[in-house]
Amino acid sequence: MSDIDRRRFFTTVAAGLTAATAPVSTAADRTARLGAAAPPPRSAAGLAAPAFRPLPLGAITPAGWLQRQLRLQADGLSGHLDEFWPDVGESKWFGGQAEGWERAPYWLDGVIPLAWALDDQPLKARIARYVDFIVSHQRPDGWFGPYPEDAVARRYDLWAILLVNKALAQYHEATGDAHVLDAITRSLRAVLDGLDRTPLYEWGRFRWFEGLIPAFYAYERTHEGWLLDLARKLRAQGVDFQALYRTEDITVPTPRRGLWKWTKHIVNTAMAVKSPALSWRIDQQPFDRTFGAKMIELLDRYHGQVNGVFGGDECLAGRNPLQGTELCAVVEFLYSLEHLFSITGDPAFGDRLERVAFNALPATFAPDMWSHQYDQQVNQVQCTINPDHMFTTNGPESNLYGLEPNFGCCTANMHQGWPKFAAHLWMMTPDEGLVAAAYAPSRTSFRSHGVPVTVSVETDYPFRETLQVGVRVDRAVIFPLVFRVPAWAEGATIRIGSGSAQPMKPGTLQRIEREWRGATEVALVFPMRAKATAGYNEAVAIERGPLVYALKIGESWTQVNADKPHRELPHGDFEVRPTTPWNYGLVVDANDAGASVRFEERPVGDRPFSPEGAGIVATARGRLLPNWRIVRGWAAELSPADVAWANPDAPGSKEPLEELTLIPYGCTNIRITEFPRLKG
Ligand SMILES: [Zn+2]
Repeated sequence: MSDIDRRRFFTTVAAGLTAATAPVSTAADRTARLGAAAPPPRSAAGLAAPAFRPLPLGAITPAGWLQRQLRLQADGLSGHLDEFWPDVGESKWFGGQAEGWERAPYWLDGVIPLAWALDDQPLKARIARYVDFIVSHQRPDGWFGPYPEDAVARRYDLWAILLVNKALAQYHEATGDAHVLDAITRSLRAVLDGLDRTPLYEWGRFRWFEGLIPAFYAYERTHEGWLLDLARKLRAQGVDFQALYRTEDITVPTPRRGLWKWTKHIVNTAMAVKSPALSWRIDQQPFDRTFGAKMIELLDRYHGQVNGVFGGDECLAGRNPLQGTELCAVVEFLYSLEHLFSITGDPAFGDRLERVAFNALPATFAPDMWSHQYDQQVNQVQCTINPDHMFTTNGPESNLYGLEPNFGCCTANMHQGWPKFAAHLWMMTPDEGLVAAAYAPSRTSFRSHGVPVTVSVETDYPFRETLQVGVRVDRAVIFPLVFRVPAWAEGATIRIGSGSAQPMKPGTLQRIEREWRGATEVALVFPMRAKATAGYNEAVAIERGPLVYALKIGESWTQVNADKPHRELPHGDFEVRPTTPWNYGLVVDANDAGASVRFEERPVGDRPFSPEGAGIVATARGRLLPNWRIVRGWAAELSPADVAWANPDAPGSKEPLEELTLIPYGCTNIRITEFPRLKG
């Protein structure tokens, strides 16, 4: 981290914040402690350390609504997929005859952190059997079972090998099973040699950097230099996204029913935003460290969606709220943001992590997490089998809630979203403290200078503005707690123990260093103010804090595809249709949205992301637009000229003003999020 970065990210603790017995460090203390002028600390020769290190799996225990959400997930598709879906249950990875490439490794990559977050013994036991099978069937040459014996004649895209090693590294971290680390190391050795015979191609070439994650993991534990040779070889054979973004025009949306391209593939893109930062750890090229933020900035400008992700169905598709985003891209973007926060320490990645986790992620699942969509749309008024669709390269079932709508990649890959988010809420600072990457109810255990510490977060955030952080230490110990202050949180405050509330600067990391004794309560307030955000075609969306709000629409769910394999309930396919009007324009003062929208807190439901479980509800005003209808199965696209604010005679301007109920985007299954803006 450069000096400039440090000044930006670490703000000075206000004078007078000190609780009775515990001095807050001075700016000079902190500079000395952090060694601002020193080169980045190295975890082992040749590999730069990240700014913050994720805690081992199992260190963070979800609580409150997050625990309920993860329990729903384990009781839904994630915890049961191997019992009936052949591509996992009968995978070649586990000795079966079904798919033997990415699907079972994808599932493991998500259910391993899920099982350890919940400390779910039966799920852990099943996972252990699957991992044991993979490890015990590794061949003497280091390749895992599904890799073909005659690989030169029958090619096998190495992406799946990189992926399974990433999943196995999590398992090793959680269990300490030495056989698993040995298996990872032998597999990566086989990859190092194999790349000379068959260089990376297709998925492996576009996802090479995912192999750096297990390579770094193994290197930090074995210090074997060839693992960094492997990292460099993967990089040399893989796509250079910085070069790609200089030469390839990624700004133009893929035409509807258009052309599938590797370079604009939304999942590759969501994964690749972390590739330069990972690469920075190898040789510390300064531009590598900052390119992730630049890439996201560019993607936002041309493809950004209000739910925190990019339009991509399944190639980059622009800002149109009808176009949709593939679920794989949502969970991969979350994982990329976790790495970006860890490596760079930039709090903006934490803000973005929450925006995606609290909006795009939950919205694309049914509230019971038994079904999911391939593509979610920001304006999505019905989800039906729709041959008239206007997806770019996806099919007519892409927005159904189902088992494997459109294609089964998301069915295999969706599981990592919530569990990895939960595992990355807090990370370790280099001086044995904790930094909050994101906020949700949880309890975290770690050791600082040998002293056991527990940090609990009691809150219904993001449905509330307040958080109670409890710090409990076995004996007195000095370490920092670093709080991410969201960039939107104007007026944020912190209060330690019985001290007075002190202001915190939005968009920074607030570092509290003190001697902690016994139990200490830290109260955080992140004031949330309503904001009207300009959308596509001059539409308007409402957000407040980390949550985006959308119109609550009555829903009718109908089971479909019951004759397809493996659709016996509870894992069926469903169409969703609106039972209440959705075609409203919004009357909102864009400069003072708080005057136009009222918010009311409700208990957070057993299903936190469901229409009835919404922990906060907003009331806004709008008018029906009778001519705004469904066209080609979707809400028609409106130009500014279609709506009344631009055209006082347009239909809708004479309709009565109504009170509209908005709920968090993540709580909706069908919705309008970007509204035509009406004059009054
Ligand atoms: Zn997918």
